[in-house]
Amino acid sequence: MIVRQLIFEDAAQVFRVVLAQEVMESMFRLFDTNPSQETGGILIGSYSPDYTTATIVEATPPPTDSTFGRDWFHRGTDGLEEILLARWDSVPQTHYLGEWHVHTANVPWPSPQDKNQMKRMARDRRYQCAQPLLIILYPKPEGKWGVSCSIFSNGKSPADLQIVDDAEFEVTEFSDAKRSGEE
Ligand SMILES: [Zn+2]
Repeated sequence: MIVRQLIFEDAAQVFRVVLAQEVMESMFRLFDTNPSQETGGILIGSYSPDYTTATIVEATPPPTDSTFGRDWFHRGTDGLEEILLARWDSVPQTHYLGEWHVHTANVPWPSPQDKNQMKRMARDRRYQCAQPLLIILYPKPEGKWGVSCSIFSNGKSPADLQIVDDAEFEVTEFSDAKRSGEE
């Protein structure tokens, strides 16, 4: 599999999200420890100075007070404050960018519960993130996996970002990525 990074772009081709391969691998490793249950955590990274690119450099494991089921996941909060303070004080400085979790069914889009959670996150002052991202890993036929990315801006309905730059990775391994402009 040739994957260095996934790049997602909004419909206006103004805002981008860069997800590095190591981050995806760490998400899959966490899921592999118990593949019969959903899992997740938070996304950490930074914005470009003009706020048009969000680069995700870390996907945390589930906090210890998270709860799981075969087709649901509630992220806890234990230890997150310490992690975020440490990242804020580190060089380069990084911070909360959003949430990630696995869907064990082939459902790439956010559930109603996901939408409620993301709206809460956008308002939660502890995270200081008015437009959190949600990355969902979901299984596809023949053992392949897809990755979706949505952005939740200030309580508005989520916008799905499309994968671009598919020269960077082998599409069939990860997603039926559509190049914007070809739709
Ligand atoms: Zn979900």
